[in-house]
Amino acid sequence: MKTKLIFLGPPGAGKGTYASRVAPKLGVPQISTGDLFRENMAKDTELGRKAKEYVNAGKLVPDEIVVDMVRDRLSEDDATNGYILDGFPRTLTQAEALDSIAEIEAVINLVVPDSVIIERLSSRIQCKSCAAVFNLKTMPPQEEGKCDKCGGELYQREDDTPAVIQKRLDAYKAQTAPLIEYYKARGVIANIHNDKADAPVDGIVARIMAALE
Ligand code: AMP
Repeated sequence: MKTKLIFLGPPGAGKGTYASRVAPKLGVPQISTGDLFRENMAKDTELGRKAKEYVNAGKLVPDEIVVDMVRDRLSEDDATNGYILDGFPRTLTQAEALDSIAEIEAVINLVVPDSVIIERLSSRIQCKSCAAVFNLKTMPPQEEGKCDKCGGELYQREDDTPAVIQKRLDAYKAQTAPLIEYYKARGVIANIHNDKADAPVDGIVARIMAALE
């Protein structure tokens, strides 16, 4: 089973949702650079203060800052046998830097149409405490405003507004989409197509697991 993984795809493709389901099956950590930034922003750390203006504007945080953060996280003990990188790399510079840090075994490329992304992101909510993701339309929590997993408070991300969503999609197309070719050339990419906003999560997770065999 492949365990050193990247989940690639536009914002709202479901990277976080599927990574949070696949990671425990593989016994590896889910490393979400977006969650790491939000955690640091909430705690108002130096890293959080540096990232904030970019994150809230829907722009990518400069490569150097992201690469340093990922290098530190990958050196922790729980990442020895594998990991799911969720939201990293997002530029060619980051992908090249990652090559000198880690040996990626598979890239799960989530292919989702723009219409589905916009519909998903505008009704997405996330837990303030454990970062679990829900959706008011397609994956509502059992109790309104409360996380099923830890009881934490659910909120809408500041960058999940229509204007910022468009900026993030533009950033994806210009800076991240070229990574598909980069990893295709290495023969490590597996495309997982998902055309529906409400496709059952279990079915997609099963397809991802099959691609990792
Ligand atoms: P996400 O939760 O993956 O949608 O990330 C939220 C925001 O965090 C992005 O819009 C960027 O501002 C920032 N971010 C997350 N990962 C990266 C990355 N690999 N490179 C640059 N910026 C990132």
